[in-house]
Amino acid sequence: MKPNSNSNTCANCDSQLVSKVEKGHAYLVCEGCKFWWNDKLLAQCTKARRPRPECHLLSLSYEPNGTDHHDLVLGLGSFRFRSDTYYYELDGPRDVYKSIQLMLESWLEDITRAAPSDTVILPHDFSDQYTGWLKCTLSEDDKWTLVPGWSDIEGWSFNPSDYREAAAKVNDFNAVDDSISYEATTSELRSDIESSIRALSELRDCESR
Ligand SMILES: [Zn+2]
Repeated sequence: MKPNSNSNTCANCDSQLVSKVEKGHAYLVCEGCKFWWNDKLLAQCTKARRPRPECHLLSLSYEPNGTDHHDLVLGLGSFRFRSDTYYYELDGPRDVYKSIQLMLESWLEDITRAAPSDTVILPHDFSDQYTGWLKCTLSEDDKWTLVPGWSDIEGWSFNPSDYREAAAKVNDFNAVDDSISYEATTSELRSDIESSIRALSELRDCESR
């Protein structure tokens, strides 16, 4: 596949893309979020982009593109990670919007009821062979530290709308990169999660018109 020289901006984070060839395939690699694009995927995700929620630090945006894949974007500071809503579609409500909404409402509850020195772990990426999580630790003085990472718990083994039992079993959390760590207060995180819930609801209204 030949990279499209016109599409040189990442659909996750707007950074510049660099052409690379790996095992005979051409990719456009993002210097910011490190995502490896091919032509078709970049065009599809660029076309499906939606305005991202206003946030201090954290956002989760649904960008439906008709495939249930590569359509959910986690923002954490300058970090971006794109994943699939395939397992959200299979969740109890059988409705991606509702499934994401219920998960975000649980995030909000987990953040709100945490006590100083608690750690909560919030899922965002449901893949066949692993899951992506945010490990959030509250200090004694109301500062959260958020670190993105992975667990080998498979995305099919629990539902986004009902993740707490699985979260309690994550004992193999691996940080994406030791240098990626962000801080926020409880009220900033609450406000961010509420913004993502609001943006999701607005998107649903807009798409159903
Ligand atoms: Zn990027």
